Amino acid sequence: MNRLLISISVLVLVLSCQDQPKKEKVETNDKSNHWSYEGETGPEHWAELEGETHCNGNFQSPINLVNYKVAEDLEPIDLHYSEKTILHDVANNGHSIQYDFERGDFLIHKEDTFHLKQFHFHEPAEHLIEGVRYPLEIHLVHQNESKEFVVLSVMAKEGNNSKPFELLESYLPIQKGEMKLIQRPFDISQNLPQNRGYFSYQGSLTTPPCSEKVTWIVFKQAIEVSLEQVELLKYLMPINNYRDEQPQHGRAVYSTSF
Ligand SMILES: [Zn+2]
Repeated sequence: MNRLLISISVLVLVLSCQDQPKKEKVETNDKSNHWSYEGETGPEHWAELEGETHCNGNFQSPINLVNYKVAEDLEPIDLHYSEKTILHDVANNGHSIQYDFERGDFLIHKEDTFHLKQFHFHEPAEHLIEGVRYPLEIHLVHQNESKEFVVLSVMAKEGNNSKPFELLESYLPIQKGEMKLIQRPFDISQNLPQNRGYFSYQGSLTTPPCSEKVTWIVFKQAIEVSLEQVELLKYLMPINNYRDEQPQHGRAVYSTSF
């Protein structure tokens, strides 16, 4: 009789374990949650928080774009953006709202191909343009086969409602750790300013591991988005998800003549 009871209990236990609902949580970014934008895990502590970072290096980003040289030979960026490229998903990784692309869009820089991987937001902006901090900065992250980056930076100011932002924000809100599939074509060039003049310099990722292998291209002209569109992003991201200005350390900053 006892033996029968034990067998039944074991069976019940096994069955109840099998009934446990499976975890649906989306793992967005493995180690990336060790750091934050404030307190003991804030930017001053990034270098000590994770083993191999460049966060204390001499070629860090963002910077104040102020002491620049106008270079007549700087040409417009060689962009190959298509309206057919598929926007794969949007994710809230706890640091920013990020939209990920399938392979398609790319740019050519110094005869090398850099594929557009994703874009995300900082609010307010990280780079300063002649000391001015815009309310929003968009980073379009491109990478080549050697894992080097070209990041295009687009500043946004408050103004008219942006149609492309309407589409992007139709997938919001999205909670921390959540990812939503989009899987529809999106033309990223709609989010670029009309004037393609830019500043350029060598720097780093502005988040850990702060890798110093980034060519920064910051457009001079800002795009317009409405106050409501800025506010929706702000509500979903950590407050002030920007890193402070880093020392220039003698690096050259170039500006196009247009
Ligand atoms: Zn960024």
